[in-house]
Amino acid sequence: MGSRRDFLEKLTVSTISLPILYGPTQLFAASEEPYDGPILKVAIMGLGSYGRRVAEAMQSCKRAKLTGVISGTPSKIVDWQAKYGIPEKNCYNYDNFDRIKDNPDIDVVYVITPNGLHKDQTIRVAKAGKHVICEKPMGINAKEGQEMVDACKAANVKLLIGYRMHYEPKTVEVIRMRKTGEFGKPKFFQGLSGFTIGDPTQWRLNKELAGGGAMMDIGIYSINGSRYMLGEEPIWVTAQETKTDPVKFKEGVDETIQFQMGFPSGAVASCLSTYAMSHLDRFFLNGEDGYAEMQPSSGYGPIKGRTHKGELTQPHITHQTLQMDGMAQLIFEGVEPIVPLDGEEGVKDMKIIDAIYLAVKTGKRVDL
Ligand code: NAD
Repeated sequence: MGSRRDFLEKLTVSTISLPILYGPTQLFAASEEPYDGPILKVAIMGLGSYGRRVAEAMQSCKRAKLTGVISGTPSKIVDWQAKYGIPEKNCYNYDNFDRIKDNPDIDVVYVITPNGLHKDQTIRVAKAGKHVICEKPMGINAKEGQEMVDACKAANVKLLIGYRMHYEPKTVEVIRMRKTGEFGKPKFFQGLSGFTIGDPTQWRLNKELAGGGAMMDIGIYSINGSRYMLGEEPIWVTAQETKTDPVKFKEGVDETIQFQMGFPSGAVASCLSTYAMSHLDRFFLNGEDGYAEMQPSSGYGPIKGRTHKGELTQPHITHQTLQMDGMAQLIFEGVEPIVPLDGEEGVKDMKIIDAIYLAVKTGKRVDL
């Protein structure tokens, strides 16, 4: 007889039937039943390391399927065609992808390219009449983000940001507990997000392509996390930067930024974003009556954590599988995750990033 633990462990590797998690309305009911509803047909733009991860994860999706690719490297297209059975007519490059508008085999394009390219690519996809999923950060500042939101609205297509944690089971449970008042009034959040970056020639250290440094890439998890853990929008930020390697981290590419945020209720957040420390991935929330701590908190998992009530025991399921099934459900049925992940949400994070950079530059508190 299998124990509950055996059952949960099997679920984490199952490719046939995923338990699905709950959001506000039992978003995904645990289901062994075959799914026979519509399938979201997805083209991935940018076949790099994260694009590969998303494609792998989608093989376990019930509601979403990889049907197309957009890449500037013909050899990658050939490899992906062989691996995922993608027909030639669903393959595009960066010059001709506007033609996707005539392709009924593609419902949505998932933009997984360097940050500095997201805005123009998103707008082109929207103009081609397809929904867009865009990786974080959605652009390189709030102005770009707003242009993307406006373009998608004008084209009557959805814009979703790749905030996979909004579907992650332990994260969803902590948000549920916060919403139902189990921590009491939230008072304090600490978010620590970082890794040690390698190759100095990579696009992540190029201001034009990355839009900044660690803050754009990894600090954004603490920003987004502070908003969904506390359940409020910040009204001010202060920030301080330290740079130990000005050769690797050039002007405009932040290595380490410590920042603080204040919220209307009086809650505060204290966060660190860095490219100079490995294994820095921790969230801590304290309310008047309880706490949640998660470490790791936003990596690919398994996420681990506990609250004042005990360990978080929700199963680990590949984040991108849950995300893509969840996004399919959102697009087809309008079922929202426990916290939204649309373009407007992305803009909120970009406004905070803009304010943090301004606070670093001026040394002053910046009101939002
Ligand atoms: P990557 O370097 O591995 O891949 C980027 C891809 O974009 C490559 O295939 C590259 O060929 C292509 N590309 C197209 N035009 C390019 C250009 N002008 N310069 C450089 N590359 C170009 O990067 P990645 O790690 O896959 O990151 C891509 C995006 O995904 C980023 O926005 C990043 O923030 C995001 N990301 C999100 C997560 C997450 O967990 N949500 C994780 C990793 C990356």
